[in-house]
Amino acid sequence: MDLHHLIRSLPDYPKPGIIFRDITTLLQDAEGFRVAVDQLVAPFAEKRVDKVAGIEARGFIVGGAVAYQLSVGFVPVRKHGKLPWQTIGEDYELEYGTDRVEIHTDMITPGERVLLVDDLIATGGTAQAAIRLLERAGAVIVGCSFIIDLPDLGGAKALNQGDYSVHTLMDFAGH
Ligand code: AMP
Repeated sequence: MDLHHLIRSLPDYPKPGIIFRDITTLLQDAEGFRVAVDQLVAPFAEKRVDKVAGIEARGFIVGGAVAYQLSVGFVPVRKHGKLPWQTIGEDYELEYGTDRVEIHTDMITPGERVLLVDDLIATGGTAQAAIRLLERAGAVIVGCSFIIDLPDLGGAKALNQGDYSVHTLMDFAGH
């Protein structure tokens, strides 16, 4: 099943020059959502995965479903200041300024094999920060699964070159 047509593309959102790839049109489609989750899981179904980590906020929706499908626990990777307990965090560069992702300090037992999930990889800055954070907590990254790749921004390629196994379901040209 081709999932491309279930993604809504919004030119100049949230700012001029960006085409926002909206997955809500995929999520509300029962078959599309199930197929997307199955495809995100497929390359990792036979591998040992101890936990799935999902990046706020759309990574929670797909990552939660992936964790359920694999029958493993879920780790929310949240934006700065949202988690209620003790955290460790990792800063990363944005086009203007920096941002920070955080997890609770007790989310990973050292040596656990973690699959990272998000809706989309662009520059890869967010995913790389999440990987650094999870690895600092002792995780072994089994791979990374994204619904959408924006290959022109090079994030998936950079992760691949860093020897991470990257799986994406579809590409869109441009930003
Ligand atoms: P990056 O760190 O550049 O790989 O950006 C990835 C994060 O930003 C993901 O959490 C995406 O949800 C979001 N994102 C980046 N570009 C887009 C886009 N064109 N459409 C929708 N979400 C995007």
